[in-house]
Amino acid sequence: MASGFIDKARITCRAGNGGNGAVAFHREKYVAAGGPDGGDGGDGGSIILQVDDNMSTLMDFRYKRKYVATNGVDGQGGRKSGKDGESLTIRVPRGTLVRDAETNEIIKDMSDDQPFILCRGGRGGWGNQHFATPTRQVPRFAKAGLPGEAHDVVLELKLLADVGLVGFPNVGKSTLLSVVSKAHPKIANYHFTTLYPNLGVVYVDEGVSFVMADIPGIIEGASEGAGLGHDFLRHIDRCRLLVHLVDVSGSEGRDPIADFDAINAELKEYSMALADRPQIVVANKTDLLADPSQLDAFRAHVESLGYEFFAMSAATHQGTRELVQRIGQRLAQLPPVTVYEPEYVPRPPEVDMSEPLHIERDDNTWLVEGAWLQRLMANINFSDYESRLYFDKQLRASGLFDRLEEMGIQDGDIVSMYNLEFEYQR
Ligand code: GDP
Ligand code: MG
Repeated sequence: MASGFIDKARITCRAGNGGNGAVAFHREKYVAAGGPDGGDGGDGGSIILQVDDNMSTLMDFRYKRKYVATNGVDGQGGRKSGKDGESLTIRVPRGTLVRDAETNEIIKDMSDDQPFILCRGGRGGWGNQHFATPTRQVPRFAKAGLPGEAHDVVLELKLLADVGLVGFPNVGKSTLLSVVSKAHPKIANYHFTTLYPNLGVVYVDEGVSFVMADIPGIIEGASEGAGLGHDFLRHIDRCRLLVHLVDVSGSEGRDPIADFDAINAELKEYSMALADRPQIVVANKTDLLADPSQLDAFRAHVESLGYEFFAMSAATHQGTRELVQRIGQRLAQLPPVTVYEPEYVPRPPEVDMSEPLHIERDDNTWLVEGAWLQRLMANINFSDYESRLYFDKQLRASGLFDRLEEMGIQDGDIVSMYNLEFEYQR
């Protein structure tokens, strides 16, 4: 069955590149030799993710799949820095998991209000204004900007709700949500009316509230992919408590015990963790029962399995207030909603080092450049010891230092590569 609800999307993100630093010299009338005044390149813009509570689906990502931030502008003479690129903020619904598209590892669970930098903009290169030293008065070089990070990710919405409503279609889940919260789910007397999850905030007492999610009805065989339910069960993965609604009126010729067992079997099929989640079993549509004792067998069945039992009528509001109170009490004793820890560890890119680097000498400074070096450096976190070790190992493996030796580099000379300069020591 087609649904307008989009809760998974693959997107490509690329941060902006850093602008290049400028090589320029101060020129003034009657001043013979001006100093270097090449300005710095601007930093590239980043790709930032931010939760937006006005969004409830990943629909926006269906048609727009590429997100690119702008590049930093090159520096100019007169110490003029290039403008930074503009960062691009991508808004996502709360509860969006960001996964690496290749490994499927979780990069970030977007469940709080902190902006998250998914792709960092490339640093701008320094202009030659920075490179004048007593022994290097005429630096004829500047640094190229570094490329921005790029990442293909899968966004996956896993709603952030305390309580998940489960049950067959038409048992009254949407009605209950609309009665106890301000949410306006679609309610109708036919199956599959709920095509996408609805969230509602339910107020228990002053300062006490919880979030309840109404997901599309689970149908038998759903966990084997037969119907709608399977995909949507993911949205209650995080729920702390399940409220399992059963139509006990017999108005559709249904058997409450069979329905109840079937839904639990579906949950088990999908995930044992979900089947073991605390559950309140709610017998709904009691207003249609001529004789309340009709409920006894169902109640006995539910309680014999160790579940808490509750009877109510969403239509007449009989018992809904009490149910809300009871849910509030249960939640107070349960652990908070699951927030997923990141699994993804950024890996430096595999670079093909066969292409020799470009080496240029400027007095006692050795300028080193090249496409793979640029790419490698853009992905190295130089404040991290392990990463620096890795970088050093790569440089050694590339044969760079042997070549520098051959060209006559001396201890104490400066090796200068993009935004990094260091003293050479054998
Ligand atoms: P859902 O598919 O589980 O979300 O069910 P809905 O909330 O859409 O309800 C299905 C139908 O049952 C609608 O016509 C509701 O008006 C009706 N309904 C829901 N709760 C009750 C109830 O307590 N008593 C009666 N008589 N009808 C109800
Ligand atoms: Mg519904």
